[in-house]
Amino acid sequence: MLLGAIADDLTGATDLALMLSREGMRTIQTIGIPKAGLDLADAEAVVVALKSRTNPASEAVAMSLEALAFLQAAGARQFMFKYCSTFDSSPDGNIGPVTEALMQALSTDLTIVCPAFPANGRTIYKGHLFVGDQLLSDSPMRNHPLTPMTDSSLVRLMAGQSQLKVGLVTRETVAQGAYAVTQAFETARAKGEQVLVVDALTDADLRVIGEAVAGLGLITGGSGIALGLPENFRRAGLMRPSGDRAAFSAPAGRSMILAGSCSEATRGQIKTAVAAGAPALKLDPLAIAEGRFLVEDALSWALSGAFPSTLSQPAPVPLIYSSAEPDEVKAAQSTLGRERAGSLIENFLAETALGLRASGVRRLIVAGGETSGAVVGALAPDALFIGPEIDPGVPWTLTLGQKEPMALALKSGNFGAPDFFLKAWDLLP
Ligand code: ADP
Repeated sequence: MLLGAIADDLTGATDLALMLSREGMRTIQTIGIPKAGLDLADAEAVVVALKSRTNPASEAVAMSLEALAFLQAAGARQFMFKYCSTFDSSPDGNIGPVTEALMQALSTDLTIVCPAFPANGRTIYKGHLFVGDQLLSDSPMRNHPLTPMTDSSLVRLMAGQSQLKVGLVTRETVAQGAYAVTQAFETARAKGEQVLVVDALTDADLRVIGEAVAGLGLITGGSGIALGLPENFRRAGLMRPSGDRAAFSAPAGRSMILAGSCSEATRGQIKTAVAAGAPALKLDPLAIAEGRFLVEDALSWALSGAFPSTLSQPAPVPLIYSSAEPDEVKAAQSTLGRERAGSLIENFLAETALGLRASGVRRLIVAGGETSGAVVGALAPDALFIGPEIDPGVPWTLTLGQKEPMALALKSGNFGAPDFFLKAWDLLP
């Protein structure tokens, strides 16, 4: 293994894993710290997905150190701490405390902070983080329910969250190339600086920074900073040529789609699939709450196999969804309460996923971030092998560490083109 990464949430971990995979590294994402015995022999990068972003700092530190020990034992040569590109954290952490603890554990004297992700509008200039055209502190992130970001200075934020001496490498230096950035690292080291916020406006900047950090034991940032890391390993002759790789192969079996996202994008994808003839079962939260509709009912619908096909080609994959228009969601929430409605549907879909697997479904798309979390929690794979990208940010994955592996596509609600539910299957061999 070459790169070991620790991510502070599940979808952020997938984002990073996909970035590394796209840049040519064989990448595995683990769900927490996997059970002993997971075969990582073939992995060049491993991303451990934690759920530590909003935990008390001491807990986040303990979880991150445990993940580090696992990655060290697995042989990683370089480490990364991945957080959100909007630096989501409370004033008490957790980015500062976790960075400090990881540096100490790795006995490293210098690291960088670079959450820039230009493709998503996150850029850093003079140490200030921008979201689109706005400073972070002017962006909607200032009102985030859990991690309101009211300062855009990464230097100040990092200094406030840790005891580390914080410095800055500005765009002017980055624009001069990787050698200039490594020189800036040396100057900072001489001044006793331990963590350097590095400006980045473009993907080209991220590749320059990626090259410059080849010699650092620990890198911290968003998934964007991973753009330039695989090239370092390739340059050093450490990465296997792509011809040596086993292709992504999806297990044979039935296919199904579960959607719990009510986002506009997912609702559009459902309409497109239904219009193309996909059999669809819409869940009613009230019927579920009142016990009038059970998981067994959904399973018998899904497994009856008597779906009319309107096409001469293979029939579109069936779809079970709770996705609803905003007024329907409000109505369900006013009767059941927002949280109860949410967890009721999440649990229902998670149990349905278990039933589908037991009945031979091996290829599954799940729409919705929380929904995906619930389904992955129920299916409980040790890890996910990252496969081909269906649409930006959404890869097919293969569950690892299980008797009956499944191909899973976990789609954050807003992601994907309108024909996502129709075209995703074409990528499965
Ligand atoms: P997204 O990625 O679009 O945010 P999530 O799965 O994260 O999707 O969140 C959607 C939430 O809405 C989940 O908690 C889900 O259980 C809930 N939900 C889904 N359908 C309904 C519905 N018809 N009424 C109320 N809540 C719903």
